[in-house]
Amino acid sequence: MTARPRTSGPAVERETDFIFHELTRSICPVCKRVIDAQIILQDNKVYLRKRCPTHGWFKGLISSDAQMYVASAAYNKPGTMPLQFSTEVNEGCPLDCGLCPEHKQHTCLALIEVNSGCNLNCPICFANAGEGFSLTMDEVERMLDRFIELEGDPEVVQFSGGEPTIHPRILDMVRAAMARGIPHVMINTNGLRIAKDDRFLKEIAEVRPTIYLQFDGLERETYRKIRGEDLLDMKLRCLDRLAGVDVDVALVAAVERGINDHEVGALVKFGMQHPAVRGVVFQPVTHTGRHLPFDPLQRMTIPDVLHGIVQQTGGMFVEKDFVPVPCCFPTCQVNTYVYTDGDTVIPLPRVLPVEQYLDYITNRTLPQIPSLPDIQTALEKLWSASAVAGSSKAASQFSCACGVSLDLGTDATHLKKHIFQIALKDFMDPYTFNVKQVMKCCVGVLVPDGRLIPFCSYNSVGYREQVRSQLSSRREGAWHVRSSK
Ligand code: SF4
Ligand code: SF4
Ligand code: SF4
Repeated sequence: MTARPRTSGPAVERETDFIFHELTRSICPVCKRVIDAQIILQDNKVYLRKRCPTHGWFKGLISSDAQMYVASAAYNKPGTMPLQFSTEVNEGCPLDCGLCPEHKQHTCLALIEVNSGCNLNCPICFANAGEGFSLTMDEVERMLDRFIELEGDPEVVQFSGGEPTIHPRILDMVRAAMARGIPHVMINTNGLRIAKDDRFLKEIAEVRPTIYLQFDGLERETYRKIRGEDLLDMKLRCLDRLAGVDVDVALVAAVERGINDHEVGALVKFGMQHPAVRGVVFQPVTHTGRHLPFDPLQRMTIPDVLHGIVQQTGGMFVEKDFVPVPCCFPTCQVNTYVYTDGDTVIPLPRVLPVEQYLDYITNRTLPQIPSLPDIQTALEKLWSASAVAGSSKAASQFSCACGVSLDLGTDATHLKKHIFQIALKDFMDPYTFNVKQVMKCCVGVLVPDGRLIPFCSYNSVGYREQVRSQLSSRREGAWHVRSSK
């Protein structure tokens, strides 16, 4: 047999311009069908790339620092199972939420959305606030009981909405959570009612929830773009009134590229100086619900915010001060804590090798450091979604972790005013949704039928719309509540 002559020159193998990192599952941003997805590394960035048979290819930026993304794998702590699950494995993740028995972590923080209405109408609102439902006191009490059945000893409940402060029973709901022994109860608010309503402020001062205050920046233009109106004076008034009654506040900033990403350093510095503020939480804008037009290849990610803080705080922070949170999937959140006293600012990772204690892959021993288990336990509690900025517990854990390196004394009530938390959280949207992350989610939304649905599933997969539609059309008490009782 004679070989066939080539008709052209030798074929040349072509190199790709990306590294194929892993295969996972995601959803189609258009029809929400569950589809395969690839994580690829390209130009030191990380993208999620996927194809829906009906709607074609999609690609979204999930991290603008591939080195940081890959290195975060070391901070993946083994999960802790909840006492009960609420659903069965049936259609596969993320269609069985939840939690179903395939979930890999219990819930550190549960949200209860008490209503869908709001006293603002922001152009950026992942909850797509508007007409819909308002939960009854009885429903909320049953949801709190259900949380205790699921978790045994839950740590944090956050009341959210819509705008929870316009619910007439919101402070009774906070009291109901506290009466059940839940140590940290938060209200997630835009601040409008606190800024205006003296009687409400007086009640807040009595009940003392932690206030999770939407606070996107210090420039009027930021509010005009993100909230549709200039809210700066109202936000500052709200904060000063909370300082006046000594109620702790965490500032929560939605960060959008080209709008307020230049303000992240100023926000940290402002927060550390303000007497009411115990921490700042930065959340790159989540493109679910209502949002401005956006390019999924240019979205903000955790490293963008982190680099912004480093560049805009004049040497106060370095990249290594921020460490991934191990209780959830470690690409979901990074934290740091600082001791601050006037001009002194000491990030905890400068006095302790936090990254070594929280490295679960090499699990290296640190023989030169005494009390390893105590320090590790304290750090795991600080680097957790259940850590609440400004709590005496966080101050005690900070003090325990520092040990002799920084003699802070034992008075947690005094110390908590000097401990400042910075958290960066990147909630997923239908472009960036990664089943691998949501399977280890530790932030859940309680719904009246007894399910606890991982927050990013709730926002991206269609659960929010289903729950809202059922709640909006229900007769009171008509939903069956799952319970072992
Ligand atoms: S996210 Fe968790 S609860 Fe939801 S389907 Fe996946 S494994 Fe189950
Ligand atoms: S983002 Fe918050 S304050 Fe703005 S409309 Fe939505 S729920 Fe209301
Ligand atoms: S809410 Fe989303 S970003 Fe946060 S831990 Fe859960 S999956 Fe991760």
